[in-house]
Amino acid sequence: MEWEVVIGLEIHAQLATNTKIFSGASTAYGAEPNTQACAVDLGLPGVLPVLNQEAVKMAIKFGLAIDAEMAEKSIFARKNYFYPDLPKGYQISQFEHPIVGKGKLTIEMEDGTERVIGITRAHLEEDAGKSMHGNFQGQTGVDLNRAGTPLLEIVSDPDMRSAKEAVAYMKKIHILVQYLEICDGNMQEGSFRCDSNVSVRPKGQKELGTRAELKNINSFRNVERAINIEIERQIELIEDGGTVVQETRLYDADKNETRSMRSKEEANDYRYFPDPDLLPIVLEQEMIEQIRASLPELPNTKRDRFVTDMNLSVYDASVLTSSRLLADYFETALVASDKQNPKLCANWIITQLLGALNKAGLDISASPISAEQLGGLLLRINDNTISGKIGKQIFDDLWSDEGQDTDSIIEAKGLKQVTDSSAIEAMIDEVITNNPDQVEQYRSGKEQLLGFFVGQIMKASKGKANPAQVNDLLKSKLAG
Ligand code: ADP
Ligand code: MG
Repeated sequence: MEWEVVIGLEIHAQLATNTKIFSGASTAYGAEPNTQACAVDLGLPGVLPVLNQEAVKMAIKFGLAIDAEMAEKSIFARKNYFYPDLPKGYQISQFEHPIVGKGKLTIEMEDGTERVIGITRAHLEEDAGKSMHGNFQGQTGVDLNRAGTPLLEIVSDPDMRSAKEAVAYMKKIHILVQYLEICDGNMQEGSFRCDSNVSVRPKGQKELGTRAELKNINSFRNVERAINIEIERQIELIEDGGTVVQETRLYDADKNETRSMRSKEEANDYRYFPDPDLLPIVLEQEMIEQIRASLPELPNTKRDRFVTDMNLSVYDASVLTSSRLLADYFETALVASDKQNPKLCANWIITQLLGALNKAGLDISASPISAEQLGGLLLRINDNTISGKIGKQIFDDLWSDEGQDTDSIIEAKGLKQVTDSSAIEAMIDEVITNNPDQVEQYRSGKEQLLGFFVGQIMKASKGKANPAQVNDLLKSKLAG
């Protein structure tokens, strides 16, 4: 039997507001437990929530970026359930009337194919507190600092057909919210989280199979692994004559297995009802248009611009726009190198810089070489002061902080490229005189020996001879 996999994701993005969604308490991460939850976050009697405008603006930004229908009027609802990290006994969320309606997002797979994924809705809600296991023997601590942090829950259609597609979609949303500067995307700190709904059905069948929901998996890699192991489990179960039950399952990364956490609640278990303490959100067209005008250039538009205006390959442009910081780095470095050679700039960033950052386990934001410094280096390669090879030495010096900028390193180490053709000719003559056998072989047709001569001359010049000049002069000398 051939099976088709069906996946829908619910992504929770913490919105990057300074204060909570309904109170003035700080949202900063990492404070002493229970120092940033105020009476509103705790739902103490006699207090009223006041909606944070910034959170609304951020939701609108997201909606515009995914071409969504924006709700003229959306409503906050209480989702009632009991849990120690939810002292109010209900979570303020949106249910029937979310602020962001139907939208879509195009994802690209590694092989270059594109797919459009439907987004069902995105709604505003408040985060709950956190249960802390492990700090207290036999007991569970509760930290309510997170309670009331604004979340945008982004619900996809069940449109993904493999774990790889699900991860591509999740990454795309991750990039997008950071471009929009509405979420810091920090997965370790839980700013960006994902629940995966997974089901299988016989290929060709119209109805969806029963799904399991995999909760709170905190890395892209684990999302992929968890989905794949869950697919395997469901197929095996059905093929053995069993049935999948709708439930919430927990992924255990150490054992690479999913296990049942609880049976799935139905919406009616939550007794949703409109929150009587909050007015509906009414969006004025004027405000939407203002926000639309303030949107930054979005990743795909930036990628396409890099391809058309700068002649970069689609691959290079995609890598460079995979984060806003990286794209900014590229553009700043390019300006610092007098905008002379976008392709060279892209190559240096993708191969040299990202390679070195990857090796050092660093993010672009922590790059030891600034975009201006790299641009200064490229400037000297472009104007032939140094060769690419010397450029790599200087790159290492800049990286290890052995010099502030390329020009002072060139000066201090005497790395200036030799472009004086009489000096280069003298070196060539010497190499020719010292290697009569190779010269004869070359002249009788063994042209691959050219590389040998180039190597000798570069060695003699300590890498400083201009390679293009060496090539030209050498060829004409060898031709006799
Ligand atoms: P709930 O809010 O109860 O979790 P929803 O109907 O809102 O349920 O769906 C949540 C997510 O589950 C959505 O992303 C949706 O696309 C996905 N989903 C729904 N049915 C299935 C299914 N049979 N298989 C896979 N994903 C599904
Ligand atoms: Mg759900």
